[in-house]
Amino acid sequence: MIVKPRTKSRILAILEILNSRMELGEDVKQHYLTLEKGYRGELLNDLWVEKLQEEVLVLHDLLFEIKNSQFQIDTLIIAQDRIYLLDVKYHEGDYIYKNDGFYTLAGKETKNHLHQLKRCENLLRQLIQTLGFNFPIESYLIFNNPEFYLYNAPPELPIVFPTQLKRFYQNLNKRPSKLSEKHKILANKLLDEVKGESCYAKLPVYKYEQLQKGCTCGGCRSLLTVVEKRKVVCKECGRVESFETAVLRNVEEYRLLFPDRKITTIGVYEWFGGVGSLKVIRQVLMSNYKSQGHGKYTFYVR
Ligand SMILES: [Zn+2]
Repeated sequence: MIVKPRTKSRILAILEILNSRMELGEDVKQHYLTLEKGYRGELLNDLWVEKLQEEVLVLHDLLFEIKNSQFQIDTLIIAQDRIYLLDVKYHEGDYIYKNDGFYTLAGKETKNHLHQLKRCENLLRQLIQTLGFNFPIESYLIFNNPEFYLYNAPPELPIVFPTQLKRFYQNLNKRPSKLSEKHKILANKLLDEVKGESCYAKLPVYKYEQLQKGCTCGGCRSLLTVVEKRKVVCKECGRVESFETAVLRNVEEYRLLFPDRKITTIGVYEWFGGVGSLKVIRQVLMSNYKSQGHGKYTFYVR
């Protein structure tokens, strides 16, 4: 059972919108692509986790803090007699394992994911103990990009490679697990401990005026869309979306980027790049949001 689903982080959601509507600086763009790739890898791994049939509690995407140390967990699975901690990496390319670390083929040392995993496990153990529980923790580093290869990796490392994923989850599924009240209490106590977004998640500076206006495609996020009657057609990927769905999605993106700006019919029309009919936009807003104020001062809230 999934106790805490995975949601796109606020920073990734914002960067995704900004990327469609402005030229991101090189560093920001790189950061965005890394986050996006990581998220894609996590979603792919979630598909395997969803297939587990034994009684387990699944918590995705957790940020905890203990004794001023923050740590993030991609997926935590509470089973009858143990806890699984999964760290997902969607890296691609060739790496070499040596001197207890990860190196590129060119010999450059990269982030040590195993140390990170160990740190995470230790902090999680402390947290669970302070909550009054004592479960053994099994941690795994999951590389699930089929384009990844690690040379010289000894078999005893807690790593699951792309070609081992199926067997890894099959084996996990073979271990019988029955849950009791105790497990649910632990899951709830852990949820109470979850922090908001990491304080390291810094956003670039952006202004309304500098963003390109228009209706983004719900599929490929391109702004090359045309409004035809009550439909939005993407010139880039061919996707057809109802005008109402497109308005709602774009309004929600607008709200995310500019929480302080009021949502008005004319504002949405402008955000849409002046396409579509004001009348239809007003109808969509009226049937999906609560209107406040009167006449031309009307604005809409959730
Ligand atoms: Zn598209």
